[in-house]
Amino acid sequence: KLYNQVQDLKGNIRVYCRVRPLAGEKQNNHGSVSNTNEGSISLIIPSKNGKEGKKTFSFNRVFGPSATQGEVFSDTQPLIRSVLDGYNVCIFAYGQTGSGKTHTMTGPNNLTEETVGVNYRALRDLFLLSEQRRDTIHYDISVQMLEIYNEQVRDLLTTDGAHKRLDIRNSSSNGINVPDANLVPVTSTSDVLNLMNMGHKNRTVSYTAMNDRSSRSHSCLTVHVQGRDLASGNSLRGCMHLVDLAGSERVDKSEVTGDQLKEAQHINKSLSALGDVIASLSQKHSHVPYRNSKLTQLLQDSLGGQAKTLMFVHISPEPEALGETISTLKFAERVS
Ligand code: ADP
Ligand code: MG
Repeated sequence: KLYNQVQDLKGNIRVYCRVRPLAGEKQNNHGSVSNTNEGSISLIIPSKNGKEGKKTFSFNRVFGPSATQGEVFSDTQPLIRSVLDGYNVCIFAYGQTGSGKTHTMTGPNNLTEETVGVNYRALRDLFLLSEQRRDTIHYDISVQMLEIYNEQVRDLLTTDGAHKRLDIRNSSSNGINVPDANLVPVTSTSDVLNLMNMGHKNRTVSYTAMNDRSSRSHSCLTVHVQGRDLASGNSLRGCMHLVDLAGSERVDKSEVTGDQLKEAQHINKSLSALGDVIASLSQKHSHVPYRNSKLTQLLQDSLGGQAKTLMFVHISPEPEALGETISTLKFAERVS
């Protein structure tokens, strides 16, 4: 309720910034980030004359290095309720490779009750809330897991490992959909965990210098919810896309060639298309350029209109990451 009221005042796009802790020994040092509070973040920018400059960026919310998975999710929770009320929702994780996108969405390698990320928590809440409404509404929940790699859409929920290219369709009855991707009914969080594991194994992963777990594709876990009011028979439909985006780092064209250069160009193109779509929505432009990438085509009916968008932008506090951090925060400023 409260969230919906806030949304009406501020529009349907929110941007949260999350700063991950420094790796290893340097945990007490804040690196290039001097200050985080509820709504802003300040960077220390060294200059040639030896003096330090400071630059401050503001967002709907800023989570510092000590924020827990639970704290990060608690601000996301009202969106889960919206999905059961029939809204479409997109939650994105944006940032350079190694900045914590997968940590936020999925969690670290060793998952525990405390460390599981947004995806699992969102599904757990969906089941919980739908159970609470069982006397008035019957819900069917199913999930799809897709990957966009080099502007091709692939199904991550296949057992045969066949990486068939899939088409995005737009139909009047189903809206935007990918008819040939597996859509799996789920009734419990353990169903979802199994599917997420399967999707994770199928995801295209190639080595990059920064992070060998990094992925050069966007992955999208989509939850479809269909509700039927038991008294009136009326039905509603909502969906939620949980998107772990490919790394946003600029690639030095002199250092990569061939496949890696192609990957980098595709990532660049789709992230800027996403930025263009969200920026034109937040500036209330009449034309929204959805057609410029597969990602924005896929999410078209969940971006804009009544739909709600939450973007987590991730930054690493390492001084070496400063250049990427600034470009990430500029992207975030543009879409907020
Ligand atoms: P990305 O998906 O953006 O490439 P990862 O989520 O894989 O980045 O994070 C890189 C590393 O940093 C991982 O080992 C991850 O567990 C760790 N990490 C990221 N964010 C946090 C955090 N908020 N708290 C603790 N560790 C984190
Ligand atoms: Mg990742």
